Amino acid sequence: MERSHLLLVGIDGLRLDLATEERAPQLRSLMARGATSWMTMPVPTISGPGWATLLTGASHEEHGVVDNTFVGSRLAGIPDLLSRAFFADSTRTTFAAAAWPPLVDPAGVGPVIHTRDEQRRSARHRVIVRDGETYGYRTADAEIADFATVGLLGFGPDVSLVYFSGVDESGHVYGAVSRQYAEAIARTDAHLGRLLAAVDHRARRGERWTVAVTTDHGHVDSGGHGGAEPEVVTSFVVRVAWNAELEAWPDEIDPTELTPRLLAALG
Ligand SMILES: [Zn+2]
Repeated sequence: MERSHLLLVGIDGLRLDLATEERAPQLRSLMARGATSWMTMPVPTISGPGWATLLTGASHEEHGVVDNTFVGSRLAGIPDLLSRAFFADSTRTTFAAAAWPPLVDPAGVGPVIHTRDEQRRSARHRVIVRDGETYGYRTADAEIADFATVGLLGFGPDVSLVYFSGVDESGHVYGAVSRQYAEAIARTDAHLGRLLAAVDHRARRGERWTVAVTTDHGHVDSGGHGGAEPEVVTSFVVRVAWNAELEAWPDEIDPTELTPRLLAALG
């Protein structure tokens, strides 16, 4: 059977209720075409523990990540989505692109995505890192989108993670109910649109693709997260498939279920 491809897009700090049709036409059209399941993120609603859970399936207690310093992390012994896809089938190729270094930077405090040096040297695993924390996400996210688009078009990895953080950055600086947060959503949605066009191009050759979009937390109206407010703990996963049927998922899943469910759908 033609192998399945998965692209997981992580949009940090995205409040879906503020990603309106006008601001996020790409994401809204995915929702209209595909399936949406809801998730409630555990407290503390911080990116380190949140993405560690979403990308490995381990609970906060299991992975030991309590904040963005990753002190106490047990992630070295807990393989991520991409690694597990490779361990299940060592012919699979994987790709990770992110401008938040703790997710992917081999020299950073994580990374959540295991470095897998042998697979990087043999081009079975590719990693693109930028430092949006230091240099700003507006530029860094755009570069991530550039590299990811080229990667998807060029070598069409079997399992990819592409991550954007400009929305979260704007939430912190300007608040979630701000023109800047809305503009960051629009910029990120345009990045998503480029990735979707690349997937669409590959799918027109007959390849089977699933795209999933998720977030690690929202923001309070005035900006910020970490607590248990409904607008902060609310997350989602939107899925759309090309040349394949979407598996039926419940309307509500636990964040620890995301990685095992995505792996199961790969076959
Ligand atoms: Zn944040």
